[in-house]
Amino acid sequence: MGEAMQVMAEEGQLLAFLVGLTGARTVLEIGTFTGYSTLCMARALPADGRLITCDITDKWPGIAVPYWERAGVADRIDVRIGAATDTLDALIGEQGPGSVDLAFIDADKLNYRRYYESALVLVRDGGLIILDNTLFFGRVLDPAVQDPDTVAIRELNAFLREDARVELSMLPMADGITLARKNSV
Ligand code: CA
Repeated sequence: MGEAMQVMAEEGQLLAFLVGLTGARTVLEIGTFTGYSTLCMARALPADGRLITCDITDKWPGIAVPYWERAGVADRIDVRIGAATDTLDALIGEQGPGSVDLAFIDADKLNYRRYYESALVLVRDGGLIILDNTLFFGRVLDPAVQDPDTVAIRELNAFLREDARVELSMLPMADGITLARKNSV
């Protein structure tokens, strides 16, 4: 548990660093969970920045809100509850392509490819897409492991390697963090 927390802290620090580095003003998060990554990224935004976070249930964001408030960043965070595929379609209609500076994908693995495609529409040219758990506890490296989640991540990794729409860097820290920078067309 302590070890898991430490990995979380390192990853949170990296996310905040990347928000600052890219000068992001609009961040999209797919998968709120405990709201820890949300908090890390929101704190790194400028005061008028905005973080849209999507989750299937309001259980986790409900727990996270008091922490966001205590950190003084709750007003920057826009929670969208529902299937993220629907939320992302709605966002594309609402604010249009290229309206997001940085997207962080950390949700159900079977839909990662769909989330990635939507994020690629929403992120501006030169913007960053961050995908979490792309080593998937090392399971992607073992061809004997064939459960649907592992297969989905393995196939996505292979797809991303060949995807000319992005520049790629995969960090073997935490559970594997893939950075994809959107190329200009
Ligand atoms: Ca994760």
